[in-house]
Amino acid sequence: MTIIIGLVAVSGCADSTDEAAAEELVDKVPVYIVGTEPYFPPFEYADENNSNEIIGFDVDLINAIAEDQGFEIEWKDLEFDALIPALQSGQIDMIVSGMTITEEREESVDFSEPYINAGLSLAVAVDNEEIKSLDDVQGKVAVVQQGSTGALKADELKAEGIIEEVIYLAHVSDIVMNIQSGRADFMINDLPVTKSYMVQNPGVIKIVDDDIQSDSYGFAVKNGNTELLDMLNAGLANVQADGTYDEIMGKYF
Ligand code: GLN
Repeated sequence: MTIIIGLVAVSGCADSTDEAAAEELVDKVPVYIVGTEPYFPPFEYADENNSNEIIGFDVDLINAIAEDQGFEIEWKDLEFDALIPALQSGQIDMIVSGMTITEEREESVDFSEPYINAGLSLAVAVDNEEIKSLDDVQGKVAVVQQGSTGALKADELKAEGIIEEVIYLAHVSDIVMNIQSGRADFMINDLPVTKSYMVQNPGVIKIVDDDIQSDSYGFAVKNGNTELLDMLNAGLANVQADGTYDEIMGKYF
């Protein structure tokens, strides 16, 4: 937060001019660094008209919360599995990246209240007639996003000796390419993201199970950062109550 740097710089100054300067700094809007993996439509992705701009459901929602709570955001683009380490090391102040609230992650970060339900789905190539549900994946190859809840699910299937192999990749588009090429038989990924891919790229994959696991997303902050967590929860409640949340929902879903 820039505000802290300002306060440290003026501490110890006694004369009134510096006191006024210090007050001015206190009034400055705090800037929080938000980590995200921006290849995850419709939650966070590059605007096709301006690839430097990140848009999406999460982006609009956190911007609305920031406006409500009076802070500003600076985005930091990271791989999904680098987000929690970056939060823990202080490189970023929060994670806004379609991150599922899990018990395991709760041990290393603090999550906001859930802001949307988004479970896991199973998808295959559009012409695959063999896999009709999770019961048909014996001996098959899964492709998932590294560090994701989909990867955890695939790891479970592998540990149980049900599936043959798990391929871990960074982005959803690469995952689908492995399905298209036949290198992998099925993918496990968040339902709204797989659905959105299918709308944008029809005729490539199909969902054969849309409810493997029901989950919710939350914003994550460093363990014990109650100041920021309270703002996120208060802002979320406010934008849900005033209709902004529903507007954003209508825009992306
Ligand atoms: N929701 C999934 C998870 O938290 C995937 C999120 C993502 O790739 N952005 O693991």
